[in-house]
Amino acid sequence: MEFIPRFIPENNESEKIWLLFSEKERYMAVDTEGSPFLKEIPGIKADFSLYLGLLAGQDCTCLSFEEQVPLPAGMEWVSFRDGYRALYPLDQYPVSRGKQLQEWRRTHRFCGSCGTATELSETEHVQKCPSCGDHWYPRMAPAVIIRITKGEKILLAHNANFPEGLYSHIAGFVDPGETLEQAIHREVFEEVGLRVQNISYFASQSWPMPHSLMLAFTAEALDESEPVPDGQEILDARWFSPDALPEIPGPGSIAGRMLVDFLSEAESRPDHG
Ligand SMILES: [Zn+2]
Repeated sequence: MEFIPRFIPENNESEKIWLLFSEKERYMAVDTEGSPFLKEIPGIKADFSLYLGLLAGQDCTCLSFEEQVPLPAGMEWVSFRDGYRALYPLDQYPVSRGKQLQEWRRTHRFCGSCGTATELSETEHVQKCPSCGDHWYPRMAPAVIIRITKGEKILLAHNANFPEGLYSHIAGFVDPGETLEQAIHREVFEEVGLRVQNISYFASQSWPMPHSLMLAFTAEALDESEPVPDGQEILDARWFSPDALPEIPGPGSIAGRMLVDFLSEAESRPDHG
């Protein structure tokens, strides 16, 4: 569905679409088809509401509830992470915008400089401090995820936070002062001791857990070195052939999309099969 971000509703006559999030437990409400774009809402006052923009021509508003309030028949709360993945890629935009603005509202109620209660601007997404004048905008944390290949093989790693047996790409947050390229070289070397070359941009994905932007790249190993896991964040890392992959991320993330792309490239090679 086409989504046009807006700050203020322009068409009061339009049909309404609602997104319902619970603040603390990170849940969102969905209908019987798993869609979070709801036409009706429970008659319980939300903690706060945030207008998001026009979704398929209809005003879309996010309602934030502190906890999971009882929902009307035909609606249920699901884990935000699972519900978000299921929307990949097209319908994640309004949901990510809503979730990140909710998180920003929730975590900037007081000025980080002087502790005074902030005031919400009526013209843009900023919370201002009436005492010292500081402005608090929504934060975003860029992170890089790198698909590393060596010839026909791909590097996949098991992160200590992953479910048992799952392998994926190397990833990490961009540190203060770094360029994306520097972050890529540092993360890859820190986590698996490899040097990479021919870095190329792949695509990006908004990842509102709570406010990341995943920037995906492909790269090639610089030499024949074997990966050496750091033993803390990465417990295992190996080169895998396309026909002998371990358990990998499914659709719903940029990580999965890079693997689908890797496999289709492998299949299209003239010597395949
Ligand atoms: Zn202040």
